[in-house]
Amino acid sequence: MPRLVMKFGGTSVANVDRIRNVAAHVAREVAAGYEVAVVVSAMSGKTNELVAWVKDADALYAETEYDAVVASGEQVTSGLLAIALNKAGIRARSWQGWQIPIHTSDAHGSARIEGIDPTNLDAGFARGEVAVIAGFQGVHAETGRIATLGRGGSDTSAVAIAAAIGAERCDIYTDVDGVYTTDPRVVPKAKRMERVTFEEMLEMASLGAKVLQVRSVELAMIHRVPTTVRSSFDPPDAARPGTLICDEDQIVEQQTITGIAFSKDEAQITLRSVKDSPGIAAAIFGPLADANINVDMIIQTVSGDTGSGGTATTDMTFTVPAADYQRARAVLDAQREIIRFGQIEGATDVVKVSAIGVGMRSHAGVAAKAFRALAEKGINIRAITTSEIKFSVLIDAAYTELAVRTLHSLYGLDQA
Ligand code: ADP
Ligand code: ASP
Ligand code: MG
Repeated sequence: MPRLVMKFGGTSVANVDRIRNVAAHVAREVAAGYEVAVVVSAMSGKTNELVAWVKDADALYAETEYDAVVASGEQVTSGLLAIALNKAGIRARSWQGWQIPIHTSDAHGSARIEGIDPTNLDAGFARGEVAVIAGFQGVHAETGRIATLGRGGSDTSAVAIAAAIGAERCDIYTDVDGVYTTDPRVVPKAKRMERVTFEEMLEMASLGAKVLQVRSVELAMIHRVPTTVRSSFDPPDAARPGTLICDEDQIVEQQTITGIAFSKDEAQITLRSVKDSPGIAAAIFGPLADANINVDMIIQTVSGDTGSGGTATTDMTFTVPAADYQRARAVLDAQREIIRFGQIEGATDVVKVSAIGVGMRSHAGVAAKAFRALAEKGINIRAITTSEIKFSVLIDAAYTELAVRTLHSLYGLDQA
C-alpha cells in the first residue's frame, strides 16, 4: 500500500473540535487506500507557554529539562488525535519520539535528527493502524534523554518520517492554503503558488518565511520527498492540493523572482575606524565564530580619514542574529585591544528583506532594479548581499511593509 505523511500545525490542533476535524482529513486518506503516519504539533500557544514556565522556574535552566518540558505539548495532541481517530472507527495509536525511536543529536533545544528506525512503524501499518506521531521531538541514544528540534520542528519530524517510511508524499497542513509569494498576512495581494522549487523554498524559509522550518526543506530536498503545504481548514471532503515543493524540471513557467521574504531577527553592528591592514577581518570574525555567532551580511568601507599615526582606517558593518546581539558586542569589546577599533555602534530595529528566484541565474540587473525602486520610496539600504538565486537588503524595520510591498509589485507578483 502507498504511504502518506500528514502533518498538522498548532492552529490545526488548537482544541478538541479541531482535532476531530484533523481526524476527518486522516479518514479521507485512509479511505483512499494510504497507510498514514500523522505528525502533530502542540496546540497553538502551548509551546510558548511551556517555554515561559521553564524560564520562570530558572533563567539558567538545564537544556535537557527544557526539552523534557516543551516536548510535552506534542504528547498531549498525539494522544488526543489517536483517541479521536479510534472514536471515528479508525485504528490508531500515538507514538512519542523515543518510542519509535527517532534518534537525535544532543544539541538540546535545537537537536538534529540522526536516524529513524522504521521497524515499529512498519509493524503498526501491518496491524492496520494509523501512526499518530508527536512532532518536534526525539531521543538522544547515548543519554536516553528527550531532545527537541527547535521551534517549528514538527515540519522536520514529518519530512524525516516520510523519508524513513518511504512515503509517496508529505502533506503539511497549516492555517494558510499554500506557500505564497510573500507572507499573505503582510501583503494581502500575495499570490498562492501552484509549485515552488526545493531551492527557492529553502531560501525563502532561511530568509524568514516561517511557513516551513528550514531543516524540513533541506531534508525534503536531500531525500527528494514531494512535499505540499495545504490548509487544514478546507472541508475534509473538498480539500485542495495546496502548493507542491518539487524539482525545478517539474515547473513549466519560471518567473525571474518567485518570492519575497523578510526577517526581523537581525541586528547590525558597525566597528568604526578599524585599522585597514591584513588580518583585520580574521581578528573580528574569528572570535565571533568561536562564540558560535553567525555573521551574515558584511560590508567594509574605507572611511577616508586616517587614524592616529597616519594609517588608513576602515568601517566594518555586519549583521548577526538579533538573539546574539548583546553577546556579539561583548565578544568584540573583549577583543578591543587586538582589533583596535574606534567606536562600536549597533542597531536592532533593522529588517532583512530578500527576493528569491532561480530565474536570477540567467537574468542580469535584477537586484539593481530593486535598489532603484527602494530609493524612490526613500528607503535607505544599510547593507546588501547577493547570491545565485537571491539578494537581500538590510533596512530600517519601520519600512518593512513598504519595502516588501514595493518589491512584490516590482517583480510582478501582485495578484491581478
Ligand atoms: P503551523 O502552526 O501550522 O506550523 P506556522 O505559523 O508555523 O503554522 O506557519 C504558517 C504561517 O506562515 C502562516 O500563517 C503565514 O502567516 C506564515 N508565512 C510566512 N511566509 C509565508 C509564505 N510565503 N507563504 C505562506 N505563509 C507564510
Ligand atoms: N510546537 C513546536 C513549536 O511551537 C513545534 C512545531 O509546532 O512545529 O515550535
Ligand atoms: Mg510551523
